[in-house]
Amino acid sequence: MENWKDTVEIITQEGQIAVPYTWWVGDTGSRFLMALRDEKKILANRCSECGKVYVPPRKNCGQCFVDIDDWTEVGPEGTVETFTIVHFNYPVQPVKAPFAYVLVKLDGADVSLLHLVRDDIEKLGKGSRVVARFSENRTGSILDIDSFQVIEGK
Ligand SMILES: [Zn+2]
Repeated sequence: MENWKDTVEIITQEGQIAVPYTWWVGDTGSRFLMALRDEKKILANRCSECGKVYVPPRKNCGQCFVDIDDWTEVGPEGTVETFTIVHFNYPVQPVKAPFAYVLVKLDGADVSLLHLVRDDIEKLGKGSRVVARFSENRTGSILDIDSFQVIEGK
């Protein structure tokens, strides 16, 4: 019996799919996003064991494995730890290029928050000071912080 693999060339094609989805961000994530939406506050939480301040807040400390329920406000200013400038538009990006993805260590936090800088990206450098700029129409999304604005460049 002839094997189909002997008579058919295996041809593959590349493609892309968009997968819309909805997921619950959990009680910790909901509290964080509600504060952004309703109060223009950036909430973090502090581990009771090691004292590490997480933003975005976490349900548990990854180092101590304890639940975290000590909330505090951080920012709205922070320091750029690192960044990359995006020059190409791609469907999954949150905004149109050019913009920068930045890791910002907000004042009072021990970890960095991934977000965007839209304006003055040429002024960005490691150590730049930035401040959160909140969206006018907030919906309970991380983009309720529209972006970070450079207040002290490289
Ligand atoms: Zn800890």
